[in-house]
Amino acid sequence: MAVNLNRVPMREQDPEVRRRNFDEVALGYTLEEAVQEAKRCLQCKKPMCVEGCPVNVRIPQFIAAIVEGNIEEAFRIIRQTNNLPAICGRVCPQETQCEQRCVLGRRGQPVAIGRLERFVADYCMEKGIEDEVEVKPNGKKVAIVGAGPAGLTAAADLAKLGYDVTIFEAFHEPGGVLIYGIPEFRLPKSLVKREIEGLKKLGVKILTNVIVGKSITIDELLEEGYKAVFIGSGAGLPKFMGIPGENLNGVYSANEFLTRINLMKAYDFPNSHTPIKRGKKVAVVGGGNVAMDAARSALRLGADEVHIVYRRSEAEMPARLEEIHHAKEEGIIFDVLTNPIEVLGEDGWVKGLKCIRMKLGEPDESGRRRPIPIEGSEFVMDVDTVIIAIGTSPNPLIASTTPGLAVQKWGGIIVDEETCATSKDRVYAGGDAVTGAATVILAMGAGKRAAKAIHERLSKEE
Ligand code: FAD
Ligand code: SF4
Ligand code: SF4
Repeated sequence: MAVNLNRVPMREQDPEVRRRNFDEVALGYTLEEAVQEAKRCLQCKKPMCVEGCPVNVRIPQFIAAIVEGNIEEAFRIIRQTNNLPAICGRVCPQETQCEQRCVLGRRGQPVAIGRLERFVADYCMEKGIEDEVEVKPNGKKVAIVGAGPAGLTAAADLAKLGYDVTIFEAFHEPGGVLIYGIPEFRLPKSLVKREIEGLKKLGVKILTNVIVGKSITIDELLEEGYKAVFIGSGAGLPKFMGIPGENLNGVYSANEFLTRINLMKAYDFPNSHTPIKRGKKVAVVGGGNVAMDAARSALRLGADEVHIVYRRSEAEMPARLEEIHHAKEEGIIFDVLTNPIEVLGEDGWVKGLKCIRMKLGEPDESGRRRPIPIEGSEFVMDVDTVIIAIGTSPNPLIASTTPGLAVQKWGGIIVDEETCATSKDRVYAGGDAVTGAATVILAMGAGKRAAKAIHERLSKEE
């Protein structure tokens, strides 16, 4: 039978409607659509898709279970290696991971692996289906710093192996970027909360409002009897451009802007009292997923005009293609080859953004073509809010309060890649705290490697 080279499309909210609400944009597959898409999989003997997945989900096996209509079995297979499938199915950059390696991609569209994973997770969540895991407690305590995808994954794997796991989280809610960064319209928070509930059922304790490095140090955790510590504290420290006017009212880091909207629920106006400027003309500086999220959130807060200001061309934008596509559909204006040089103000508030046009030169150390300013091309963009989304780095607090922990100049914790072991005995680290801003699935992969290494070490000790 000839293979259909096109994937089953996924229903979405109409762009004209969704640009003014925070409800999820993508609506997921029905059972019939999922089975139809699953039938496109060739069940390769050497499935390259699995190699493209950082946690090696057994992709052909779970897809075969969908074809048979056995969604519960598909769920069980996915959960063997992926603790957060409803999340990964939505936010994994599949097009550069599992799906990029799918053989069908050579002739047409690859199998929609992420969408199928999302379908399975949502179906089972809705029906209350859970995988049964028998946990045999071994009495050994392990501490996890940070409840983002890295910490949650390490915690789940260690709990399944019988460890007595406690997560220490600085915020009042666990989830890391999944809760405070990625907006509701891409990742509903109810899903994240339900995935975290599953973790608690494994016996994992989550202590919120505990800032490790202030409330308690890593050394104190070890003294308190934790046999190992995993640091998954992320990269929450925003970078700024260092241009005049950045201290004006109406300038936000994307982290602050999104945290106010997501974690502090400013989107739920007027029920929430979290203060946030609802700009009418907004410029978002940057070209990654964070910039797209900030721009689309500003639009949903009521802006008339939202600009993405990016110094390279669209081809160099690091954001997922799907996010760029969605942002454009919603009416976000893309000002590429444009670089801000000053935020202009009046009475302490943003009044405009002075920019200069750029052209592309030879590739720089990042491999991308270097942006070069075009002399005399300065102009002023008429905006009242500026959101800066040019990257983040790890917060220096943990490094500065943990003697013996080696870090890079820019703050990333230095680890052995295979084991996630740091320079300090019994201390492991992974995710954005090591790499700087990266992806959910890479953070989860690190959490898995760390859990394995911690278990290998502790299982040898009495
Ligand atoms: P985080 O998710 O940052 O979690 C770290 C946790 O540690 C936080 O909860 C923090 O409060 C806590 N913490 C920090 N310091 C301490 C301390 N001293 N004591 C106790 N707790 C502490 N990736 C994708 O794959 N797809 C996407 O679509 C995507 N979109 C993104 C959109 C936004 C707006 C952002 C900001 C990131 C996005 N990413 C995306 C990146 C992805 O979310 C991160 O790579 C991932 O969350 C990193 O996981 P982590 O566990 O290392 O850190
Ligand atoms: Fe693909 Fe991500 Fe799922 Fe792995 S976890 S199969 S990379 S969508
Ligand atoms: Fe199926 Fe594509 Fe994986 Fe082959 S590579 S098993 S076709 S998903």
